[in-house]
Amino acid sequence: MAAGQAWAALAAVARDAARLVVPVECPGCGAPDEVLCGTCAAGLAGPVFRCEHRVPRLDRMDGLASLPVWAVADYAGPLRGVVVAWKDRGRQDLTAALAAAAERAGRQVGAALGPAGRTIPVRVVPVPTTAAARRRRGADLVAGLAGSVSRGLHAAGVPARAASALRRGSAADQVGLGARARGRNATGFVLRRGGADPRGALHVLVDDVVTTGATLAACCRALERAGGPVLGAVVLAATPPPGRAADAAAGVVRDAAPTSVEPIRGDTRETPGRSRHGVRG
Ligand SMILES: [Zn+2]
Repeated sequence: MAAGQAWAALAAVARDAARLVVPVECPGCGAPDEVLCGTCAAGLAGPVFRCEHRVPRLDRMDGLASLPVWAVADYAGPLRGVVVAWKDRGRQDLTAALAAAAERAGRQVGAALGPAGRTIPVRVVPVPTTAAARRRRGADLVAGLAGSVSRGLHAAGVPARAASALRRGSAADQVGLGARARGRNATGFVLRRGGADPRGALHVLVDDVVTTGATLAACCRALERAGGPVLGAVVLAATPPPGRAADAAAGVVRDAAPTSVEPIRGDTRETPGRSRHGVRG
């Protein structure tokens, strides 16, 4: 047997052995020998849709419209399995597919922003990951998504770039705060990174999943307090409203995505009398 053939045979044996130990399967549906099957991948290919109406903690309680949130998919059914496998089960072979979905989302959001979105610099800010999650995953996956969204926005003509402007607070950041303030910080404790100056740019937040919106709201506050307006957020997946969760689990296809091209909050901010409830109709 020639040396090349011997190596090829050995490689095949090693590959099969590795499969026996860690069989590759689609994390959405369990199809064997697929990183992500075509059916589950199709769940990431739809148009982005607005979902802030199902994110309770984004309520700003200041009379302004809720922060716009664009999602690629419902966090339910096969897609939930895909995202969980990527985030928490070491399936970083899914990164390419999810990055492509995030980039497509960026392009669509960029198109929805219209000409106004092409004049002011946009910084795409990943929702900061806790140090523990970063260690567990071996990478900051959300920062990678922000890079993809930024590329998509850029492709749509928006002068965007990714910027890790926020970080999670630590116990040391709490020194000197009273018990009440520490309690307030227990969830969504987010700070601006030293040196990050958010003035002079609009901001788009990026996260993998939005559920209550508490963390997005904390990120928004941290940027806006420092003079950096937030245009909206882009997420891979959003917790569906109760009726839709069951549909998604059963594989029912969502209606054509609504409202991917709605006026952005930047428009409503100029109209102080227009309440969040009015915008929602
Ligand atoms: Zn599948």
